[in-house]
This record gives sequence, C-alpha cells and structure tokens, in this order.
Amino acid sequence: MNEMPSCIGCGAQIQTERPGELGYAPVSSLEKEEIICQRCFRLKNYNELQPVSLTDDDFLKILNGLGERKGLIVKIVDIFDFNGSWLPGLHRFVGSNDILLIANKADLLPKSVKQHKLINWMKQEAKKQGLKPIDVLTVSAHKGTGVTEAMEAIDKYRQGQDVYVVGSTNVGKSTFINRIIKQATGQADIITTSHFPGTTLDMIEIPLDDEKSMYDTPGIINHHQLAHHLHPSELKMIMPKKELKPRVFQLNPEQTLFIGGLARFDFIQGDRSSFTVHVANDLQIHRTKLDNADALYEQHLGGMLAPPSAEYKDEFPELVRREFRVKEGKTDIVFSGLGWITVQHPNVVVAAYAPKGVEVFLRPSLI
Ligand code: GDP
Repeated sequence: MNEMPSCIGCGAQIQTERPGELGYAPVSSLEKEEIICQRCFRLKNYNELQPVSLTDDDFLKILNGLGERKGLIVKIVDIFDFNGSWLPGLHRFVGSNDILLIANKADLLPKSVKQHKLINWMKQEAKKQGLKPIDVLTVSAHKGTGVTEAMEAIDKYRQGQDVYVVGSTNVGKSTFINRIIKQATGQADIITTSHFPGTTLDMIEIPLDDEKSMYDTPGIINHHQLAHHLHPSELKMIMPKKELKPRVFQLNPEQTLFIGGLARFDFIQGDRSSFTVHVANDLQIHRTKLDNADALYEQHLGGMLAPPSAEYKDEFPELVRREFRVKEGKTDIVFSGLGWITVQHPNVVVAAYAPKGVEVFLRPSLI
C-alpha cells in the first residue's frame, strides 16, 4: 500500500474517506503536487477555520503533547452540554499549564439565569472533575457576547506564552476562534497553518502580536454526547438556535412528560406541583399518565414522540431510568445536551430517563 502524503499546512496524514476528520482531502486533490487538507484549505482561502474531529487515541497523543509545552490552555465547553462536552482527564495531561475555562453558547440560556450562579456551578463542577481553572468565563461565540472579555482574559493569563484551544466537537470552538480571528486581525493573510515536525500535534497556528501563537487543536468526539445518537437533521431540532423559552407544567403525582422521544420524566410522589422544562423550543413535550407511559413510548416512538424519527428510531439507544428524591425546591434535573427540568417544590420523588450513556444529574437551579 502506498503511504499517503502529509498536508503541507498542518502535517496531518492525508485521507480521503472520512470528511470532518483530520487530514481529509477530496480524492481529486491527490493529483496535485502539494496536497493540502480541507481544513487548511479553508483557512487559507476563506480565512475560516473548519471543525475537525479526532479519534480518542489521537486525541490522547495531542493532550500528552500539550503537557510538554508551555502555554495557556483554553478549554471550551458547551454550556448546554456542560458534562457531555467535558474532556475527562484533561488536568492530568496539561502539566503545570494554567487552564482557562470558557463556556460557550450563553445566548441559549433564558435571561432569568443568574450569571453568578452559573459561574459558581461551573467552578464547582470543574473542581469535582479535578480541574482548577485559573478563571471561568461565559461567551456566545455566535453573537459575540463576552468575546472581547475572553480575549482580554486570554491575553492576561497567557503571560506572554502560547495559547492552546481545546474542546470536544460541537462546542463551538471553530466559531469562537473564527470570531477572534476577525476581531483581532482583520487581515486575510496573517494566519498560517503549521505543524511540529516529528510530532502528532496537528494544529493550526494563529499568530498573536508578540511572536507567540494561538493553536487550534482538533476536537474530540465524546461518545456519550446525546448529539452522537441523532442524525444531523434531527440534531437541528435538539440544538436550540435561540434563547430557551421555559415551559411550565402543573403535574399531579403519577404523571409523565416525554421530551420528544429523547427523554422522559415521571413525577412519582409528592404534592401537586410545577415543573419548568428548559429544552429547545422546537421540541414537543407530551404529558401522559404514568400508567400509560411505557405503552405510549413503545407505540409512538418515531411518530408522536420524535425525534428520533421513524427512520432512525431503531438505532436509538434505550432509555435508562434514574430515580431521584429531591429534598430542596428549585432543583434542576439536567439531561446532558438536551436541557433541564426545574423541580420547583421540595420533597418530591421523580424519575428521569435518558438514552443509555447520556448523563442525568441534579444541580441547584440557576434561576
Ligand atoms: P466545533 O466542532 O467545536 O468547532 O463547533 P462549531 O464551531 O462548528 O459549532 C458547532 C455548532 O454550534 C454549530 O451549529 C454552531 O452554529 C453552533 N454554535 C457555535 N457557537 C455558538 C453560540 O455561541 N451560540 C449558539 N446558539 N450556537 C453556537
């Protein structure tokens, strides 16, 4: 077998079969003398970074490489999928480098979310995961909110060193870096692609104004993200585009809510009370009796209860049940990557169902 050539931009080995993964280039480009991967091509010609993802093994190599370099690590997570987009074990790899934690997609949160509660919760979660970020910020890369502050923070904490931006796929890392490129340079030809010969660090280099650089690393696919269980067309439905509009349900015990066919919430025990659902506005929510819920799911998954659509429902993982005794009022039951349900009143027993592998957890309400 012929060894595939390397990209002249980032050094990644060229492959022609898996678009969206590292080193992808269309077959036609193989005829050229100097071969450039699609990610580098886009950056060079359109000044725009394209997301690219990596397998776990390759990503571990990149992380290992980061520990050997000196610089500020900027870790981007999705506010809406905070746990699903986490990179477990990052702290073990970065050595003595500082980590700046930036949560993206802040535009999706209802206005009533309190910023300080959100930041506190993120700090606590980070600590639980063994990570002590030097600072925690929120931004909307899409709208530009907080991006100037983020750039100032990066400049302050990097202390004249390089910057490495890491994140799992879909957190909006490319959108964020593209915005920085626009705000900071305004020049088309300032970006170069580069790699470190003899290493597996296939990164894109964005020069900063003091001879140092910001490096974009490929995103890792986190297999337990809800997003990976859905077809791209369905993903559009669960990924909110706009600020979430809370939907309030007054429930009696032994009533059930279905969030499309993606998740289920049973109110098992407690006084009649209200539950506020925060999921993408396009997702349909169905209320039914607990007694009917199993049968309803079986009969209507892919139809009335969608996504997943009829076409893809057979590949969709089974829902796994978890029961919670909620002692305090104003507690969020979070379905990673989907949203959350705020339990308004104390002393209730509920059950939350999410696709196998997708995390469900409690947190104090952010509102
Ligand atoms: P990457 O894989 O981390 O590079 O992610 P992308 O930059 O490709 O973004 C993934 C998805 O999230 C895209 O559909 C973006 O439009 C969306 N996205 C990125 N940033 C934001 C944001 O600040 N707000 C919202 N609502 N969506 C965003």
